[in-house]
Amino acid sequence: MEKLQAIRGMHDVLMEDTPRWQFVETRIIEILKQYGYQEIRLPIVEYTELFTRSIGDHTDIVSKEMYCFDDRNNTSLTLRPEGTAGCVRAGIEHGLFHNHTQKLWYAGPMFRHERPQKGRQRQFHQFGVEAFGFPGPDIDAEMILMAARIWDSLGIKDLRLEINSLGTAESRQQYRQILVDYFSAHRSTLDEDSLVRLENNPLRILDSKNPAMQSVIADAPLLNEHLDEESMQHFNDLCAILDAAGIEYDINPRLVRGLDYYGRTVFEWITGQLGAQGTVCAGGRYDGLVESHGARPTPAVGFAIGMERIIELVNDDVIQDVQNPHVYIIVTGDNLTKAAILFSEKLRKSINKMRVITHFGSGGIKSQFKKADKSGARYALIIGDEEIANGMVSIKDLRVDEAQLMLNENELIDLLRQNLEID
Ligand code: ATP
Ligand code: MG
Repeated sequence: MEKLQAIRGMHDVLMEDTPRWQFVETRIIEILKQYGYQEIRLPIVEYTELFTRSIGDHTDIVSKEMYCFDDRNNTSLTLRPEGTAGCVRAGIEHGLFHNHTQKLWYAGPMFRHERPQKGRQRQFHQFGVEAFGFPGPDIDAEMILMAARIWDSLGIKDLRLEINSLGTAESRQQYRQILVDYFSAHRSTLDEDSLVRLENNPLRILDSKNPAMQSVIADAPLLNEHLDEESMQHFNDLCAILDAAGIEYDINPRLVRGLDYYGRTVFEWITGQLGAQGTVCAGGRYDGLVESHGARPTPAVGFAIGMERIIELVNDDVIQDVQNPHVYIIVTGDNLTKAAILFSEKLRKSINKMRVITHFGSGGIKSQFKKADKSGARYALIIGDEEIANGMVSIKDLRVDEAQLMLNENELIDLLRQNLEID
């Protein structure tokens, strides 16, 4: 039999890493609540057509990265490669955008068939944030401030913010022709990918990660020289709010996004620590997407955080240890298991959130004490015949060198309440 293993690029998150994930998730959710965002839970699988129509046929995602399959009725389904399309679908389906603004978030796995490397998986996780019904630069700015607050809360420094405006569809159309002329004149310097993009999505050439392409990209004409008046105003207003709020940013006129639906504001937060996989959060405005699905025009803006990449940047010492048990219950005879279970239940009930591990299986007192110590518990409680006969429990502080005490239940609970920091 072949060795059992997970699919390439799809990873287990093991127990030593889950506290880090939980910490990051909890902190992000706290911040999103501060800004009035509400959670929406979406399916992981959608009709393939939703993604081809939303993201665009000629994007990397749709042309080569999607996990598509036919179900038993020969309907083409796709594992979601991103969350915006499903969120827009749900919003239209449930009438969430009719005369309402919405601030939504979702989190979960996304799937893209890419070449796996550090910071790039085939199953990865995003926290996505979307705001619908807000046309102005105020919400773009607030989103960026919110992201900055998230980094702050996670203790992440040294992220660089890049912003740009992609203008309206019309101004992009004009610029597109200018780019086609330019890159056609430099055809011999283009790589294979870019030659394909030249035909069907020339803006995306600017997004090339190929080092050999960077100099021809650097000399390309700039979109912001061809921006329409209104987009220019929107962008200037956004910058003014960021300036007033003390947010530093670089305007990168070559910043385009990998999905077709973006227009006007786009932004990325980038770290220098993860090499080519440096973008930890990316987003922008997509005012045309809702309408393109046949619904009433609804302005929209959003971003997605790449969880694996962000988690890489979180320092171990900001993560409080929330896992260690408070007490480990040592059981000194097989006949006492039932009493130990009942006593553990009583403790969990008397002190809310108390973490209690009850010893199960064989093992003498000495080996149980070793296990208790290894578990990281603060106290070992000993249930033995003598204790049971007297209605008492013995307690030993595993972290301070003090004598073992024998207490009755009330005294014990008082002591635990006083000495354990449980909120
Ligand atoms: P990249 O340029 O790195 O491929 P992208 O432009 O395809 O990113 P988006 O679709 O904007 O990425 O997704 C938002 C964020 O999700 C990215 O900035 C990144 O942090 C994360 N992300 C995207 N693809 C992957 C992946 N394959 N593995 C891990 N994280 C990813
Ligand atoms: Mg990508």
